[in-house]
Amino acid sequence: MLRRLLPQLRNLTQSTCFVTAPTSATLRPLSTTVMSSDKFSLPQRYKGTETNIWVEFIQLALENKPLNLGQGFPDYGCPKHVTQGVADVMADPNLLLNQYTRGYGHPRLVNVLAKLYGGLLGRTIDPFSEVLVSQGAYGSLYNAILGHVNPGDEVIIIEPFFDCYEPMVRIAGGRPVFVPLRRRPGAATGSSADWALDPAELEAAFGPRTKMIVLNTPNNPLGKVFTRAELEAIAELCHRHDVLCVSDEVYEWMVFAPAEHVRIAGLPGMWERTITVGSAGKTFSVTGWKLGWAYGPASLVRNMQVVHQNTLYACNTPLQEALARSFEHELSLMGQPECYFTSLAEELLAKRDFMARFLTDCGMTPIVPEGGYFMIADWTSLDKKKIDLSPYAPGKPDDHRFVYWLVHHHKLQGIPPSSFYSDEHKSLGENYIRFCFIKDDKNLEKAEGILKQLKESMSD
Ligand code: PMP
Ligand code: GLN
Repeated sequence: MLRRLLPQLRNLTQSTCFVTAPTSATLRPLSTTVMSSDKFSLPQRYKGTETNIWVEFIQLALENKPLNLGQGFPDYGCPKHVTQGVADVMADPNLLLNQYTRGYGHPRLVNVLAKLYGGLLGRTIDPFSEVLVSQGAYGSLYNAILGHVNPGDEVIIIEPFFDCYEPMVRIAGGRPVFVPLRRRPGAATGSSADWALDPAELEAAFGPRTKMIVLNTPNNPLGKVFTRAELEAIAELCHRHDVLCVSDEVYEWMVFAPAEHVRIAGLPGMWERTITVGSAGKTFSVTGWKLGWAYGPASLVRNMQVVHQNTLYACNTPLQEALARSFEHELSLMGQPECYFTSLAEELLAKRDFMARFLTDCGMTPIVPEGGYFMIADWTSLDKKKIDLSPYAPGKPDDHRFVYWLVHHHKLQGIPPSSFYSDEHKSLGENYIRFCFIKDDKNLEKAEGILKQLKESMSD
């Protein structure tokens, strides 16, 4: 039956089709027009942003089912009260918790965010004009960048950088100006603290067209935590050149002593020119929630509100309610060892040190992070003669190709750090691979086992 119908169906789709005019009962034949490829092509502002490392490497993981230490997400539990909070909201007799909430952020959530960050910065934050909730930190970064960058504006991006900053600046018509963190020559410790900005290079990046600098501390993928002195130097340049600072602090609670998280918004005179971005996914180990926020002075948050109201308008109500309850719970424990903001870093410290050990044992050279949950390791200290990259991702930087090689030969996945650099500086990331260590200890042990085998295969 189907076989008999197929030629007719093919005819319908290929040559002539019939549409019913809404006002007429008659069927009118229409010739199928050839769609003009130019008219319906990707808008110019998105050209050059077509590829995306997350899309590519999540697909690689789906196809090959490696042990995945690539994309950053925990593969074990988050605090019990966080998921229980969602169940409680669903059982709440207030059915309005399932309906639209305030577009700029659910009142209970913006209130607790204002209280938390107001306390940390020692200032009063207005929950309704100085906090904006969006769809993940991505949404907040989008609001901050699209809400301030005009065509022709320059935006300084410190490298390595979370990859979405560059396309967002370009989509806004801005021009990214990249300034890399460089490893101090002769650095002996193998710590992310050895990476710093060259003060002269940073200063030279500021000019009359500079609108904004984007900062990420703790940094993804390097794990560097900017010191107060480094932030003061950036702040001084922002003042001198009248520049905004977007500070992406999604890993603010994952900082390993003696490093300390310093909020640039808290430095003298910086509140007025800083937008700080946070993420529920990172704060509570629930990356699938995709809720984020930004806080800053009302004048800047207003510009972000305009972008937000014209794109997403409002975010998921029940999750915002549950997130607010989770924050309230942690606020009541603040400063105590059982507060998740304290215990998370402790839990991660042991995982970090374990990973650093097994990467070293297998012959790589890790850069031990001061914060976050990623570690980059120099893989070129392995015997490169034993690593044939030629079948994989031709034309891409070597670290990109090495990720494919490792997946195909050893079923272990990382992320190539060159993806966190501009085209002009990709070589700075090429010797490294990024691994995520917010993983179940059993999986970290599996990674250790895989890398032991890799080492053995190198000596065959
Ligand atoms: N900034 C950085 C530095 C990140 O690593 C991520 C990934 N979580 C984001 C922003 C985006 O966060 P979210 O998942 O909340 O959108
Ligand atoms: N921030 C996470 C990472 O760096 C996830 C990024 C993403 O999924 N887009 O791995």
